[in-house]
Amino acid sequence: MTSWKNNVRNVIPYTPGEQPKKKVIKLNTNENPYPPSPLVGKAISDVSMDSLRKYPDPNCSSLISAIAKYHGFDDENIFVGVGSDDVLAMSFLTFFNSDRPIFFPDITYSFYDVWADLFRIPYETKALDEDFKIVASDYASDCGGIVIPNPNAPTGVAEPVEFFEKIISAHPECVVIIDEAYVDFGSESCIDLVRKYDNVLVVRTFSKSRSMAGSRIGYAVGSKELIKYLSDCKFSFNSYTMDTVTLAAGVASLEDDEYFKARLADVINTREWTKGQLEKLGFSFPDSKSNFIFAKHSSIPASDIFEELKKRDIYVRYFSKPERISNYLRISIGTEEEMQQLINTLKEITN
Ligand SMILES: *Cc1c(COP(=O)(O)O)cnc(C)c1O
Repeated sequence: MTSWKNNVRNVIPYTPGEQPKKKVIKLNTNENPYPPSPLVGKAISDVSMDSLRKYPDPNCSSLISAIAKYHGFDDENIFVGVGSDDVLAMSFLTFFNSDRPIFFPDITYSFYDVWADLFRIPYETKALDEDFKIVASDYASDCGGIVIPNPNAPTGVAEPVEFFEKIISAHPECVVIIDEAYVDFGSESCIDLVRKYDNVLVVRTFSKSRSMAGSRIGYAVGSKELIKYLSDCKFSFNSYTMDTVTLAAGVASLEDDEYFKARLADVINTREWTKGQLEKLGFSFPDSKSNFIFAKHSSIPASDIFEELKKRDIYVRYFSKPERISNYLRISIGTEEEMQQLINTLKEITN
């Protein structure tokens, strides 16, 4: 019997981190513990009802110009979308159309294989070494594209710009995407490579460092040619991706650089304090340059610690797969008080 089921695009979706309804210490989805700049609140309340009556600007020009100015690029070098997930998905669709597989690490952002499956893009994962570092030589052969987060997630491990420049310059046959979701927390950015190579796309988000996960703003910086192709695909799919309120909120965030930098410093200081405390409790972890720490305990299984923390209303992220990371917890950096409470609770659990 034939069935309509033979014609379904059947996929296994990405599982986002839990968003509990009750009040908990929430260290499971790498959100920023601080609110966005007060200018963001003002911009949102200044949006007129009449502007909501109309469609938003399909070109998102105000936000694109603000991002371009912030990074010292032309507007034509910037593409914006509904979170970097939207930007990344559109980039996979636009640039990964080869019969050759695309490459990405085996332990990485778990959305990459989902998009590859959704768009029927062949892919090969490349194993991280024992220290969770990316092995550059694995990315040497001709391929359909490359996507790597820097710092990598969920490990937090970062590589310097030279590392990526070697990969990008060796691959004129494909587009290399660097996913910089966590770059503001202290690692080197590849954004300046865009001025030198037309095949690199740097993807960023307002969700983590700018405390605006709820607004859904992501962007890509690339050569004008890359951005044009990306934009053509977007306009073939959905013209009005960004809403009027979000556009205003995004512009306002970029206007308050002092606030942004101060909150980043807060998160980084708390991260460094937390590293010292975790070590004292018998945890080990690769050195993190992001707003989370990927840690395992010397004797207690990660799944047990995860459950015990959850019972006490502290949520962290646990990935049971792949096997290699099944004894690790990904702990987002909260406020100083939240991390103090986490450490106190871990003391209880590990005793
Ligand atoms: C959080 C995250 C994203 C997606 O963030 P958005 O909220 O969609 O902007 C993309 N890549 C990595 C590696 C992430 O951790």
